[in-house]
Amino acid sequence: EHIANQIAAGEVVERPSSVVKELVENAVDAGSTRVDVSIEEGGLQLIRVTDNGGGIEEDDVEAAFFRHATSKIATSQDLFSIRTLGFRGEALPSIAAVSKVECLTSAGSTGLGTRLRIEGGTVRLKEDAAAQRGTDLSVRELFYNTPARLKYMKTVQTELGHVTDYMYRLALAYPNIAFTLKHNGHVLLQTLGSGDLLQAVAAVYGSSLAKSMLKIEGETLDYKLEGLISKPELTRANRGGITTVINGRYIRSFPVNQALLQGYHTLLPIGRFPVAVLHLTMDPTLVDVNVHPAKLEVRFSKEPELIALIENAVRETLGRQRLIPQG
Ligand code: ADP
Ligand code: MG
Repeated sequence: EHIANQIAAGEVVERPSSVVKELVENAVDAGSTRVDVSIEEGGLQLIRVTDNGGGIEEDDVEAAFFRHATSKIATSQDLFSIRTLGFRGEALPSIAAVSKVECLTSAGSTGLGTRLRIEGGTVRLKEDAAAQRGTDLSVRELFYNTPARLKYMKTVQTELGHVTDYMYRLALAYPNIAFTLKHNGHVLLQTLGSGDLLQAVAAVYGSSLAKSMLKIEGETLDYKLEGLISKPELTRANRGGITTVINGRYIRSFPVNQALLQGYHTLLPIGRFPVAVLHLTMDPTLVDVNVHPAKLEVRFSKEPELIALIENAVRETLGRQRLIPQG
């Protein structure tokens, strides 16, 4: 069991940002409206995620840290219509196998909950404890017992960069959740959770870029698109400013990026890319998110229809923009 978890850990837990991803996604799945992330030394020393979601019942806490304990799939049929972010039940066991975890969680409003400590996959402590509704999960000394993996970690700045990038994407994916990210006590990101995408864009990219964003929208029989794109005058040197969110899941999709850029057609100077946030809504059966354990890449079953929607919506928005007299 320990060995199996360490092997799975190699797949799910690549670096600190993968831990942040799994913990924050769990917080989102738990219905949280506030998620605070605090890390130290790029996450190698500490990753702490505190949420105000549904918490975990005392009887389920330990089970959550053992393999395939997901509470999110009731039947195998559900695999075809995944709406939550996590569905494999692999994350917590994998993380607990390669770090020192403390979880304080409460599923009720009695002010009481459970504290669980696990080190390298072994339960060290379980006790009743005072706790607000929600979950407060700390991961210390990631990879302390897998030195080979630890050796592959880059500098604090590099690891922090991955964490920050991921938190930016989540802030853009969930404008209705208030996120904070702190590194060594410094606030790096703070969103209001007002539900306004433009406000989330301002928190991530600054208010002057947010002011230059244009609304984009469109719909076909199967897909709905809503989002924001920067004017062609305000571009960046890489594709990193493009964020795609499908049914609340941040994903990477080459075809979606290409469609967006096609929509710009001749407007973008060579080697320049827009900042854009695309929120796509579709029936979950039209998208296969089971391609990779990290769940970033997906397959669409009606790709041409989706591509056309994005391309046309971008073209329309920019065309309208050009009709508005300047100055
Ligand atoms: P998955 O998300 O794939 O179900 P995880 O290993 O990430 O698997 O989590 C295992 C289970 O622990 C979840 O299904 C959920 O029931 C519970 N859980 C984990 N984190 C939280 C949280 N922050 N709030 C409430 N429940 C949680
Ligand atoms: Mg999960």
